[in-house]
Amino acid sequence: MNLQEYKKAVENLNLYSHHYYVLDDPMTTDEVYDKLYHEVVDYEEENPNDLLKNSPTQRVGDSVREGFTKASHLSRMWSLEDIFDSSGLEKWLTKTYKLDENISFYCEPKFDGASLNLVYENGTLIQGITRGDGTMGELITQNVKTIKSIPLSIKHKQRIEIRGEVVIFKEEFQRINETRLQNDEVVFANPRNAAAGSLRQLDSKITASRNLVFLPYGLGENTLEYELLSEAMTYIYDLGFRKPPASAKCNTFQDIEKIYKEMNRDRESYSMMLDGMVIKVNEISSQIDMGYTVKIPRFSVAYKFPAVEKITTVKDIVLQVGRTGAVTPVAIVEPTNIDGVVVERATLHNFDEIDRKDIRINDKVIILRSGDVIPKIIKVLSHERNGEEIEVKRPSQCPVCESELLDEGVLLKCQNLSCEARVVNSIMYFASKPCLNIDGLGIKIVEALFTSGLVKNVIDLFDLNLEKLLSLDSFKEKKSQNLLNSLANAKGCDYWRFINSLGIEHIGEVASKTLSDSFGFAFVDADKEKIVVCDGMGEEMAESVLEFVRVNTDTIQKLQTILEPLEPIKKQEAKENPFKVKTVVLTGSMSESRGLIKETLEKLGAKVSGSVSKKTDFLIYGEDAGSKHEKALDLGVSCLSEEEMREMIND
Ligand code: NAD
Repeated sequence: MNLQEYKKAVENLNLYSHHYYVLDDPMTTDEVYDKLYHEVVDYEEENPNDLLKNSPTQRVGDSVREGFTKASHLSRMWSLEDIFDSSGLEKWLTKTYKLDENISFYCEPKFDGASLNLVYENGTLIQGITRGDGTMGELITQNVKTIKSIPLSIKHKQRIEIRGEVVIFKEEFQRINETRLQNDEVVFANPRNAAAGSLRQLDSKITASRNLVFLPYGLGENTLEYELLSEAMTYIYDLGFRKPPASAKCNTFQDIEKIYKEMNRDRESYSMMLDGMVIKVNEISSQIDMGYTVKIPRFSVAYKFPAVEKITTVKDIVLQVGRTGAVTPVAIVEPTNIDGVVVERATLHNFDEIDRKDIRINDKVIILRSGDVIPKIIKVLSHERNGEEIEVKRPSQCPVCESELLDEGVLLKCQNLSCEARVVNSIMYFASKPCLNIDGLGIKIVEALFTSGLVKNVIDLFDLNLEKLLSLDSFKEKKSQNLLNSLANAKGCDYWRFINSLGIEHIGEVASKTLSDSFGFAFVDADKEKIVVCDGMGEEMAESVLEFVRVNTDTIQKLQTILEPLEPIKKQEAKENPFKVKTVVLTGSMSESRGLIKETLEKLGAKVSGSVSKKTDFLIYGEDAGSKHEKALDLGVSCLSEEEMREMIND
């Protein structure tokens, strides 16, 4: 980097920061920002005389957004130095041990949200201030008072500043973005921007509607006399603040590495987004001795997790046809390694989304891959366009069978029942885990069966025999026999699986169980009035069942004869127990998979639902339970730990 490049880099970083901190609408990924930032740091170390006063290395955050009153922090708020790998950790430890040998460490997740400083006097919350530039932030006390995890009064009477991160749980983030989509508003790029944007609203009602959560991580001015930060934090949690889902005291490089790896491995299971782990010297007197640079404390560092957001280029937009005929666009992107997985495709949902986000072929985009979720484009970097971008047209023909598409706005549909894509995908669905769970019917095999003409619908599967399968190139004796065995095993399935495998629109696993439990084999004769009164069933679902049965009576009968599903056990047959005919919601991680616990409860006659409402009888929570638990508490739903549930079952 030369002087000119350095000046340009500072200018760019400041522009990025303004979009990130003030507008809550980032122009690039954290990874790109961090890389450029570290190049600037290196240049400044080698050329201290060139240091620009407005360099981001010299200040925290950005300016305060207009419209808010400014307020000073009683003691400064800081940023954190970043490290990215074990060699960074080693260097940081060496540097820190040089300042003080007799130290230990306190590690906790680095929450990806917005910093907040709370001031309490005489036990009452008097101010809530954003971090701003570290000295002064935006005074947002009214908004802060709407956050349920922030106590309005505490038993501690001396003046105290409690610092923490305001976050939005991932589930809540989805909900907010769905609502924004419905209202034709721009969606938030990620939960961090959503949290910062929701916290800094001029209208507190909007903040209140967003279910923000405050997680304390430290203190500003205070009169506490604890020797260790971990003790001081325990005191803060006891005042009524929310404890972070993980924290640990460590002594060595190995300890820290171990905790870091565990936290990174488990990061998806937390309700909130984490972008790293913060390591802090635990001895408060050592912290005071070590002090601060112009921007960061010397006694603390952020050990960042690998990035889940990357910049890539859209190479093409292709169309997929699902089993119901729905045509969905998919972006083919420049292969990009995200945390060890090469991403080549990203979901685009529908053409309205393409229009709304204005995604074009050749666009540079920010792509997100987290957990098992299909990678998605969260932002188009339209400022990077060079004129070579190509807009995609809404298709009018099915890309597979070329028949004309039905265009219902959001939904584009191929109506040709014998379209290869529809048939292949319905067979895949029929064989999938929550349906008949037939092993050995992967996409390649189903395509081969279809193109050979052996299987044109699900019923044909049961006419297959060894001779027919061996006539196909890709089938040898063992593979053929395995497939025939799997098909034979599907016989005698639970009746709800049978209903689910029919692929009735709007009828998924839960509704299939309801239909099975309520009507048994007679579900085909049930009328609308009887269906709508069943728990969880609505008019649209009932109509969908009736229409499906009307058109497919023959197929249903044939399949029932072939599969011989089991007559369902009626709910009333479950013995008396506290969960019988109760609506139960499961949340958080449990000692065994939630699927197994759900099965146990269903056998006891409970209905296991996915969301909490006033109708919920019990919420059963495991570790790191998030917004569902909070909602249940708010609604006064009875909440049981996994252990309590097991005791009740055993009793
Ligand atoms: P930071 O986010 O890297 O770290 C400091 C902040 O971490 C604290 O202020 C606090 O709010 C938060 N934090 C969360 N959990 C914590 C815990 N347990 N203990 C202590 N603090 C905790 O620093 P920053 O100054 O807010 O921002 C710098 C980062 O922001 C950069 O590394 C970059 O990734 C990102 N950034 C991105 C862009 C962009 O355009 N994408 C622009 C500017 C900044």
